[in-house]
Amino acid sequence: MTINNIVDESFIINQNKLKKFDNRCDNIKIGIMGGTFDPIHYAHLATAEFIRDSYKLDKILFIPSGNPPHKKRKITDKYHRYNMVLLSTINNDNFIVSDMEIKREKSTYTIDTLKQLKQIYINAEIYFITGADAICDIETWKDVEENFKLANFIAATRPGISLLKINEKIKDLKDKYNANIESIYVPSLDISSTYIRNQLNKNKTIRYLVPELVQEYIYNKQIYNNGE
Ligand code: NAP
Repeated sequence: MTINNIVDESFIINQNKLKKFDNRCDNIKIGIMGGTFDPIHYAHLATAEFIRDSYKLDKILFIPSGNPPHKKRKITDKYHRYNMVLLSTINNDNFIVSDMEIKREKSTYTIDTLKQLKQIYINAEIYFITGADAICDIETWKDVEENFKLANFIAATRPGISLLKINEKIKDLKDKYNANIESIYVPSLDISSTYIRNQLNKNKTIRYLVPELVQEYIYNKQIYNNGE
């Protein structure tokens, strides 16, 4: 089976998971794993699982960002990033991938995503999970206050990031916006997409840092070998 066939099959399996999930209308708790995922790696997956378990979330919905307005560097084509998230989550019934941001033509803002999610999952409680550094910049996001009204936020911190600094920022956001926001220390987060891209640029190994299918996809499509 070629990697393209596996992507096609993963797409169908994910569509079935989504269909089943969209039909649920009870009071569920959904974790939203928002990120550029350039590329997705094991620390993202471990974080999602760790938080799902800690917060007793029903499902984790991965939403790769489409056209992130804040990115200065050129990012990888959104369909490649989406396909890699599909390949990574296919064996886990609790992990589902949404293409709602990938399908948007314009800049993708979290506020639009949260509004769309609230229309689909009317009674759901939403937990938006992302890296702590992204949360530190949240006041630059579109409609910052409204984001906090629609979702709880979880800032995943990795080794090397000052918890003290993050917690000060969180206190500030709580005071200012009445935000429901928490930090969670995830020890396994000491892998980053930047590190993986750098390894690839130097022709070094990424084995055991990303799922095998993601590694195969990266080599097959020859992404990350042009100094990006
Ligand atoms: P980023 O700035 O690339 O990432 C910041 C840090 O967080 C990086 O160290 C990153 O590690 C880590 N990270 C990213 N997503 C993570 C996740 N889900 N769990 C754990 N760590 C994560 O952030 P980004 O990926 O572009 O954006 C994060 C989310 O915030 C996206 O959903 C994006 O749409 C949203 N956002 C919205 C706005 C807006 O609405 N205006 C602005 C900025 C960001 P890796 O590099 O290893 O992933």
